[in-house]
Amino acid sequence: QLFDLVQFSKTLIEEMKTNTKEGQTLKFTHNDEDILVYIDPKLLSHILINLMTNAIKYSEEKQEVILDVQNNGNQVVLTITDNGIGIPEKERQHLFERFFRAENALNIQGTGLGLHIVKQYVTLMEGTVNYKSELGKGTTFTVKLPKKLVKNENNLSYRG
Ligand code: ATP
Ligand code: MG
Repeated sequence: QLFDLVQFSKTLIEEMKTNTKEGQTLKFTHNDEDILVYIDPKLLSHILINLMTNAIKYSEEKQEVILDVQNNGNQVVLTITDNGIGIPEKERQHLFERFFRAENALNIQGTGLGLHIVKQYVTLMEGTVNYKSELGKGTTFTVKLPKKLVKNENNLSYRG
């Protein structure tokens, strides 16, 4: 399905604004005016909503969450940045596991499923997901996805 990722992200950001905390701002940046992709928009919105919900949830009031979308050859690079609580380095190897929650997040509600789902969807779309984080300073998740899936195109079903 062909669609413009820039328009798509703008709409998503507007919808997400209703879920922010007091004074939090959501910002959207992008390098090109139109970024046309052949991506399943349902899977993509699950990925972005999960990552942005985390960014909002694990940061304070009055802080900023940024979604950046970069058109980069045959792939798109999506980054979600927050200035929140950060992720302890020792949790790194388990972060994408089902039901995993980091020690410093236990006083905040969650089930530990979001990132596991993100990882599954990204893998299905033959992309990658990584993050950089500094404890108490913030976190940036980076998702790289091919604009068009060459192989497995008829195979896009999610097996949970
Ligand atoms: P839910 O299933 O509702 O999404 P959750 O947010 O706890 O619950 P995940 O989204 O899978 O679960 O995230 C797993 C854990 O990773 C979180 O519990 C938290 O410890 C950590 N985490 C994820 N995103 C961030 C972030 N942006 N900043 C700090 N910690 C994060
Ligand atoms: Mg979550």
